[in-house]
Amino acid sequence: MRRLLAFLLLATACSSGGPPATRPGPSDPPVIILVSIDGFRPDYLGRGVTPTLDSLARVGVRAEWMEPSFPSKTFPNHYTIVTGLRPDHHGIIANNIRDSVLGSFSMSNRAAVQEARWWGGEPVWVALEKAGRPASAMFWPGSEAAIGGVHATHWLPFDGRMPEADRVDSLLAWLDVPAARRPGLLTLYTAAVDNAGHAFGPGSPRLADSLALADAMVTRLVAGLRAHRLADRVNLLVVSDHGMAPVGPDRVIALDDYISLDDVTVNDWGPAVMLAPAPGRAAAVYAALRGAHPALDVYWKQDVPGRLEFGTHPRVPAIVAIAREGWTVTSRARIDRVTPGGNHGFDNALPSMRALFLASGPAFRRGVVLPAFPNVDVYPLMMHILGLEPAPNDGSLEPLRAALRP
Ligand code: AMP
Ligand code: ZN
Ligand code: ZN
Repeated sequence: MRRLLAFLLLATACSSGGPPATRPGPSDPPVIILVSIDGFRPDYLGRGVTPTLDSLARVGVRAEWMEPSFPSKTFPNHYTIVTGLRPDHHGIIANNIRDSVLGSFSMSNRAAVQEARWWGGEPVWVALEKAGRPASAMFWPGSEAAIGGVHATHWLPFDGRMPEADRVDSLLAWLDVPAARRPGLLTLYTAAVDNAGHAFGPGSPRLADSLALADAMVTRLVAGLRAHRLADRVNLLVVSDHGMAPVGPDRVIALDDYISLDDVTVNDWGPAVMLAPAPGRAAAVYAALRGAHPALDVYWKQDVPGRLEFGTHPRVPAIVAIAREGWTVTSRARIDRVTPGGNHGFDNALPSMRALFLASGPAFRRGVVLPAFPNVDVYPLMMHILGLEPAPNDGSLEPLRAALRP
């Protein structure tokens, strides 16, 4: 089995089958497939249910871990990976945001996610389209908006119920064109592991089914690439946005034990809680919350610790309260709804928040283990592979150079 997988992953032009229209030539333009397995912790590898991912980690490039950006949430981090900007700089500062002009943003608000003015910076797919090459988003935060007036050539409104196999098949169909018209970047996304991590917690044996499902998605992708004779042509990046920490009803902070909820608008309940005080109430709210609970660190936005690189964006409200690992912030009215399971959004330096990074393909050496690096570095890596000039960003190619072929 292992041998078969290694063969699938390293298959070269001598593989049989596949349409002649996609037969690779030596000067084909570079292609990246960027796969996100939401909430996949690097220590989920090697549990006996992810043979393809384990094989990729062994024969390709693997980071010991990738450090997410703060807050360690889905939308901020997915958009960081494709822009190289910290959430504080691209403006998707949480999953739920308030902006004085644009109003409210949430992941399920289609009108908001499709409004380009929420999305700062320039994602890789926009740079690629502007350079005259197509890009394809099989779901990615930001891909539903025409950022800088530009959509990826292929994109779909997010549909969490679309089976993973159908996502892979859509992506493969977009690839199945002559090399000159092939997308330079294709994204692929699954939430299965994040959903199971929230429901059961990262240590639960019940996570296994979701890990297997994510692995099956990547296996189908790799087999499809081989059938298209692209297995040796495509640079495959498999990443996650953040990890997962166990939570439970024994570690809950009810905000209204300390302040009146009439004194604040809670833009996001956290674990990085975004608190916009009512006019004239800021000092009172801050004084009441600061030091109120040992598992809640409370800051004025300008005093958030520098290593979190957070607090300068106008969308960050005046007070940021950060729950310690494993704690849930809620209100008395909702306190009974806190169930055992997992969550993320905590301090991005915590081991439980670590994210996955795997890479293989013609741009990469084989069998390389990289020391940890921050997820802002994925953007300069992708721009380098695609031969595009990176926009100003918070990342660096340096930590990844050792993984690149000369
Ligand atoms: P989080 O609350 O940070 O755990 O977010 C994870 C959830 O984000 C997943 O369960 C997905 O349903 C949702 N999600 C992921 N990508 C998108 C997207 N492009 N549009 C809307 N929702 C998404
Ligand atoms: Zn996520
Ligand atoms: Zn999640």
